[in-house]
Order: sequence, then C-alpha cells, then structure tokens
Amino acid sequence: MENLTNEEKNLIVEETIEKYAQYINPGLARYYKIAQLETVEWTSRNSSVFDIFGHEYIDCLGGFGVFNVGRNHPRIIQAVKEQLDRLPLSTRTLFNKHQADLAEMLAKITPGKLQYSFFGNSGTEAVEGAIKLARFYTGKKKLVSAQNSFHGKTMGSLSISGRDVYKKPFEPCLPETYQVPFNDVAAMEQAVDHDTAAVILEPVQGEGGINIPERNYLSQVKAICEKNGALLVLDEIQTGLGRTGKMFACEHFDVIPDIMTLAKGLGGGVLPIGAFISTPEIWKVFEDHPFIHSSTLGGNPLSCVAGIETLKILQEEHLPDQAAQKGEYVLKQLKKTQEKYSEIIQDVRGIGLLIGIQFSDPDIASLLAMEMAHRRVLVAYTLNNPTVIRIEPPLTISFEYLEKALVILNESLMSVKGIIDEIGGD
Ligand code: PLP
Repeated sequence: MENLTNEEKNLIVEETIEKYAQYINPGLARYYKIAQLETVEWTSRNSSVFDIFGHEYIDCLGGFGVFNVGRNHPRIIQAVKEQLDRLPLSTRTLFNKHQADLAEMLAKITPGKLQYSFFGNSGTEAVEGAIKLARFYTGKKKLVSAQNSFHGKTMGSLSISGRDVYKKPFEPCLPETYQVPFNDVAAMEQAVDHDTAAVILEPVQGEGGINIPERNYLSQVKAICEKNGALLVLDEIQTGLGRTGKMFACEHFDVIPDIMTLAKGLGGGVLPIGAFISTPEIWKVFEDHPFIHSSTLGGNPLSCVAGIETLKILQEEHLPDQAAQKGEYVLKQLKKTQEKYSEIIQDVRGIGLLIGIQFSDPDIASLLAMEMAHRRVLVAYTLNNPTVIRIEPPLTISFEYLEKALVILNESLMSVKGIIDEIGGD
C-alpha cells in the first residue's frame, strides 16, 4: 500500500468519505469533515497514528481509554498472531485455558474479594451484565446512578446513563432507574432504599467532563448501599487499568465495589473485550444457572490472550505509576495555560492521565479540537459535556510527545483566541 501514488491515496480518501456519506452516516461524514479530519487512518505505533499519506498525529485521545498500553504493542500483536494460528474462537463447549488465565489474573489484581469474571465484547455489555447480576442476586429492581454519567448505549446501560439527549428518542427506558447528582451524598441517601438493587457509578466521571468526587463520597455511598442491602457497582471501563494513576480508580478512594466493570483498555488496544467481576458470595446465583447469562463471542481466545498480555504489560512497565507522573506534569503545565487564557478556560482538572480542560463555551472547545486536529494532535470533547476537552493519551506516551502536544495546544489556543477576538471585534 505504501507504494501508492499520491493521486491513488487522494482517491482512497475521497472514496472513503463518500462511502461514509452513502453507506454509514452522512451526518458522521459531515462531522469529520468539519472537524478537519478529512483523511484516512492507516497505521499506528505507541502514541501516534499515521494517515494514508504518512502524516503523524499525536493521539491525546487514546481511543477514549482503549490504548492504555499504547498502540500496536509488539507483545500483544505477537501473542494475538500466535493465537490466531492456533485457535481464534472457542468451541464454547470445551474448557478454554486463556479465558481461565485471564479470569485468574483479574481476580489477583482487583481489590477485595472480587474473584469471578464474565467476559463480553464491549463496555456496554459489561454494564448490562452487572445490572442483571445485581437484580438477580438482590431480587430487587431499582437502580440508582448519577446524572451526567455514561455507561453505554444499549437499553440497560442507556437507562442508567445520565444524559437525556441520548435517551429521549428511545424511551421508555428500563423501569425503576433513577439518576441523582454526582458527588452528592444527601441526594444518594434520599434515593436509595430497601427496594434498591444497586447503585452504579463511575469512580471518576469520564464522559461527564472528568468529574472527580470528594475523597469520601464513594465510601459514603458504599455505606448507604450496605444499610439498604443494595450492591455498589463501579464502572471502571474508562478509569480502570492504570488510567488514573492506580490500577483501578476506586483505589484512590479506598472503596471496594461489589461488582466492577471493565472493557476498553482490557484488549490492549488490539481486540475488543469487556468484563464484569464480582465476589463468590454474589456469583453463587450463577452457579445453578451457568447459562442464564451468556455470549457467543465474549471472552474469545484472541481477546483473552490480548487481555493477559495487557495486564502483564501494565504491571511490568509500571504504567499506573507512569500515568500518575505524566498526569501530574500535564496538569501543572495546563494550569499555567489556564492562567494565560483565563477568559476562556474555566477549569483544568484531572487524575492520572484522565484530564479535562473546561471552556466557557462548547463552541470554543470544538474550535480548539479543530485547530489541534489541523496541527495533527487528536483530542475530543467529553460526550456528556461538550465544554470539556479531554486529554487522555496512551499511558506509554513519552514526555517528549506530551511536551509537543502541549506546545500545539497553546498554539491552537492562540488561534482560537484570535478568532474569538475577531468575531467579538466585528
Ligand atoms: N462505561 C463507561 C464509563 C464508558 O466510558 C463507556 C464508553 O465510553 C462505556 C461504559 C461503554 O463502553 P462501550 O462503548 O465499549 O460500549
């Protein structure tokens, strides 16, 4: 492919965009065009993505938390290639060593008594499973989650998510689902009662705009759950696997959930996989009904070997520590940027390499993302809060690349400020 002429490459780009408009979604095609992303991704390596022309983009988005161990990690690629030749998919009738090994590794690294895992193919599927397990174990229906939360877009996870625009067209949602303000213990206390099966929260809200709760919030919620016989489900799909500077974000708050969900980074940026994990006590409801919850392709051998290698890399390369150090550096630099652009930047906050820059207006955030894309750094706004631009690169990104990205961010901000001043001056 690298032997293609420029003319041929241009044609591929043109045709791909046209096919998006014709066969995928014209709105999406328009969005990418407006966002200055009129090219075709072609290869990737660590924290960089290269388009078909060989242009390098620094990835400060990290697939929304998928590429924690970097892109195309050679060990994961190797393990997956070997498994591909050996046995790509499972019989689902014989025992599978890789699924068993991954489940054991997760039991060892997750906190407390979390021990049993069920594997699906995505984050939303993990959340669906967690909801079902909580209802099955408690025999209760009510689910309490947070406003502004994001747990996925299938009907169950959508029902407990906290942004109306994604929910309204699909109502009615699951019954007995309630959202309360995040980081508000009194509201939680009021919402949770003896009919509640579970409280489901992200330890740090990702798509809600990188919202970090008070130190004691989650432990107080856990106490409320215990008082009412409800389970605490922590959705670590975006915050887990080193992202926040610890293997799991709940460790910052000394809270152990009854059920944890994982996905995104678990497949090492190579294959899709999700999981929900719980304790032997809770899992015993599945013992007499091992087929009551199942997935044909979930936990397939390819994804499991990717998961096993990912967990080893996270530990051996001390990626949670790296995330903490790099995150601290970025946050410090961004605070200086905030001082310089205080009229448009309202807040800069983060934990590890999950960092948000909050602007006074969503249009400014969009403009910044466009200016950065133009200069070949990828960022995006958080889905439930378009005023916040997230910085969420692979944890393996070098300080040199972080520095480059920050320089480009500042240059882009200068352009954005110029545009605003020009509009304001007219
Ligand atoms: N939960 C959280 C916290 C997420 O951030 C996401 C996706 O952004 C999901 C669930 C849904 O994951 P998926 O897109 O793999 O279904």
